[in-house]
Amino acid sequence: MTPVLSVEGLSKRFGGVTAVDDVSFSVNAGELLAMIGPNGAGKSTCFNLVGGQLKPDRGRVRLFDHDLVGLPPRRIWRLGVGRTFQITAVFQSMTVVENVQMALISGRRRIGALWPKASHLYVDEALELLSRVGMLDQADRACSVLAYGDLKRLELAVALANAPKLLLMDEPTAGMAPAERIELMRLTSSIVRERGISVLFTEHDMDVVFAHASRIIVLNRGRLVAAGVPAAVRADPSVQEIYLGSAGAPVPSGSPA
Ligand code: ADP
Ligand code: MG
Repeated sequence: MTPVLSVEGLSKRFGGVTAVDDVSFSVNAGELLAMIGPNGAGKSTCFNLVGGQLKPDRGRVRLFDHDLVGLPPRRIWRLGVGRTFQITAVFQSMTVVENVQMALISGRRRIGALWPKASHLYVDEALELLSRVGMLDQADRACSVLAYGDLKRLELAVALANAPKLLLMDEPTAGMAPAERIELMRLTSSIVRERGISVLFTEHDMDVVFAHASRIIVLNRGRLVAAGVPAAVRADPSVQEIYLGSAGAPVPSGSPA
């Protein structure tokens, strides 16, 4: 079966630093693939190369049969690659439900539909998405007054509005308390599984990684050093060494799923 995302020989240099060095991996249908590695390993650069925010020096990135290299981020988004949890993606001055409506309007190319004329569009669908992320009771609140965790759930609803085939989540739970973090990933995980959305995510919290990843790939200094199912990656001596060798980084041998 054709992978949802396939990355081959991806490389990116910044001056003297090779941030991503000949990296190849794929994300299969319905899979939650975790990309882990110490700070500076090249994870965010990989995400930006896939999402179109950066252009690779070498390598291929394909969504099904579509070549993504060189396409602008908006076009990649339209092809079905969503990004979650970007605070700036939410319009602070609008209400919660209006933000989801905007995402639905934008995803369906009703860009000529100017707010406030468009304010009646897709209300039911927007409310349904909010209900799925547990935000229905906050639909009419202004985004500017939302708690951080609620903003994250709104951003998930906004990302889902475009019915993505692949979601890119670069440290989705950053800045959240541990209990909230686990809750958000559990919600995300159940929604993507029911909708058949594939996910590529990074996450510092190894409990979250081992609880939700179908497979894990490990980057270190731009290179892919290990890949496999969680149990195999956890047992890999080179992975242990990378984590034990980098001060302050979590050791991926903690509490399992
Ligand atoms: P991670 O997300 O795994 O922490 P990054 O992809 O952010 O790692 O960074 C990988 C390496 O590339 C680091 O050495 C970082 O300093 C460097 N880097 C990332 N983005 C840039 C940039 N825009 N300009 C210069 N160097 C960068
Ligand atoms: Mg990063």
